[in-house]
Amino acid sequence: MDAIMLQEKLVERLLCPRVRTARQKVKEKQYVGFATLPNQVHRKSVKKGFDFTLMVAGESGMGKSTLVNSLFLTDLYKDRKLLNAEERINQTVEIIKHTVDIEEKGVKLKLTIVDTPGFGDAVNNNECWKPITDYIDQQFEQYFRDESGLNRKNIQDNRVHCCLYFIPPFGHGLRPVDVEFMKALHEKVNIIPLIAKADCLTPNEIKKLKDRIREEIDRFGIKVYQFPECDSDEDEEFKQLDKELKVIDLQHTAANAASESDHWSHSLRLYCAVENQSHCDFVKLRNMLIRSHMHDLKDVTCDVHYENYRAQCIQEMTSKLAQDNRMESPIPILPLSTPDVDTEKLIKMKDEELKRMQEMLNKMQQQMHDKDQ
Ligand code: GDP
Repeated sequence: MDAIMLQEKLVERLLCPRVRTARQKVKEKQYVGFATLPNQVHRKSVKKGFDFTLMVAGESGMGKSTLVNSLFLTDLYKDRKLLNAEERINQTVEIIKHTVDIEEKGVKLKLTIVDTPGFGDAVNNNECWKPITDYIDQQFEQYFRDESGLNRKNIQDNRVHCCLYFIPPFGHGLRPVDVEFMKALHEKVNIIPLIAKADCLTPNEIKKLKDRIREEIDRFGIKVYQFPECDSDEDEEFKQLDKELKVIDLQHTAANAASESDHWSHSLRLYCAVENQSHCDFVKLRNMLIRSHMHDLKDVTCDVHYENYRAQCIQEMTSKLAQDNRMESPIPILPLSTPDVDTEKLIKMKDEELKRMQEMLNKMQQQMHDKDQ
């Protein structure tokens, strides 16, 4: 295809200006213009900017903030207060949002990181995922309200598009809290499980742990984010990346433990340290999250997770309304069309009237015809 285009361009250059103009005119006649539609969409999207909300969950010290800073080359955690072991025991799960506007080659991204400090840190971790599921539901609820409201043009999308879940590298697989957490969230958000600090393990240990976790994920019926099927017309580079991503369902991050005094330089150093693909999956994870699947993560959030929430909400509202007719619904529910006896009678009468009129018309036509003869 490229060779043909190149040949065409060469021929065009060799032609005399008059023939070239004539050819151009013929081409212009055949050209309607809708081929610019992708450009129009592109321009509009770039102007509007993009947003993405990423949640990180896992015990303290698993490397969540280090990973986020390295992924987006920002320092989102400079004001963070680190707790000592004693303070952590009594700490309840908090939800902390960091928002940063980043720009790259004129494309603006509003990135929101939702951190969940305190998760899994207490001695009793019973239902410690509850504040997290509540938060995700609240964002869906807000979006649902905004969508049903009057001003639907400027809705702010705070729905969580992806959750990176950090699994400690020290165990022999998933812990009960990991299973419970993922089961509580898998219908609400795209979960990507990561083995944290995998550089503490040998390649053999990593492989064993990955296999074990994969097996447990299947056994417990946990739905983690599935990479979409790659289209056959995608370019070779994308196909290769897609293939690599399908092989690693579980990623791990590796970093050289570095001093925490200077977060900014730390993140840069870490970024460099993990660029080497052969040692860790950091580059693959970054490529998947940012370069190739960010849009798909948003699509799945909208088309699957949010749709589930919306359908459930509407169902609940309808059944409540059926129970109590006086209750007002924010969404009007149309009455079901049931055959009405009176309407049927009316239609029958009109039919008979039409029949009579038709007979009269026929008679008149016959009379006129007889007169003419
Ligand atoms: P968070 O509490 O989960 O946000 O964890 P931090 O990002 O603050 O990291 C805790 C400590 O682990 C820091 O000293 C980091 O330098 C170190 N660290 C972060 N990521 C890794 C990693 O992948 N491997 C190793 N060995 N250490 C890491």
